[in-house]
Amino acid sequence: MRSAPGTGKLRVAVGRLNGEFAAVPVVDCHVHLYPPEINRDPAGWAASAGEAHWARLCARQRADGTPVQGFPDVAGLLREMDSAGVDRAVLLGWYWERPESCVRQNRFFADCIRLHPDRLSAFAAIHPAAGAEALAEVLRARSEGLIGLGEMSPHSQGIDRDDASLAAILALAGELGLPVNLHVTDPVMKPYPGRVATPLSDFVHWAGQHANTRFILAHWAGGLDVTSLTNVWIDTAAAPLIYRTGAWIRAGRDVAVERVLFGSDYPLNLYPRTRAVADLGTFVQEVRSVGLSAEAQEWILGSNAAALFGWERK
Ligand SMILES: [Zn+2]
Repeated sequence: MRSAPGTGKLRVAVGRLNGEFAAVPVVDCHVHLYPPEINRDPAGWAASAGEAHWARLCARQRADGTPVQGFPDVAGLLREMDSAGVDRAVLLGWYWERPESCVRQNRFFADCIRLHPDRLSAFAAIHPAAGAEALAEVLRARSEGLIGLGEMSPHSQGIDRDDASLAAILALAGELGLPVNLHVTDPVMKPYPGRVATPLSDFVHWAGQHANTRFILAHWAGGLDVTSLTNVWIDTAAAPLIYRTGAWIRAGRDVAVERVLFGSDYPLNLYPRTRAVADLGTFVQEVRSVGLSAEAQEWILGSNAAALFGWERK
């Protein structure tokens, strides 16, 4: 049995378990972090690396001239986690256009989790077009301690729903016990620069085709009702931008509360109207203030992730 993750200073006291005072570590399941060469010059790096779509989404500015997100280094992320009361972050890769960008990010993530095993976990970036090399990269990432795949977006990568390489990757993820995080866009939300349509029926198809694979559908699954999908979880990433606080009414309605994972999309600025930069603590406080029961808050902020990833309580 692995020990419970997180030794952060700020923990949430939730009550007593087996006669002892228990604290559930707070886990952010959807965090993006980039290597130093990307942080130094995001747009320049994207131009030289052939990652124009990522640049449209992440290196752009809003109409008022403020950047949509920051580019913190590892130390900056850890400081933000400390101030927000987040014990552990799950670093997610990106749906890069180039397989070599995936490889670079995965080696960077391997370094991050080796240096901060008590605070950071990571998923691997994978490009299905790499074929056999993509499968080898899944195995390499797992051997380095990465615990899932994603954030993947076959739609953004130009991969068909029934692509054989994608199917092999999803099957391998199931065999290896690696959850797969998929980017989902709500079909009814208003367009934003770089938005790619992700038909919700495709996610239902993949979940059905790969019953042994556990899927995390990002961004509240784009509004999809997942209550009948037994191998599907959802994360809450970017919800304040997409749904304001309205998304929380879905917990228990369109998805069992036990399947909701707190995820922010940090360092995306979730509150551009009131915050100049990303502020993780505000989103944590939102979970605590929208009327969820204390038990539901505990599950969403940490216990559900611990159960999904096999982090048992002592
Ligand atoms: Zn996403």
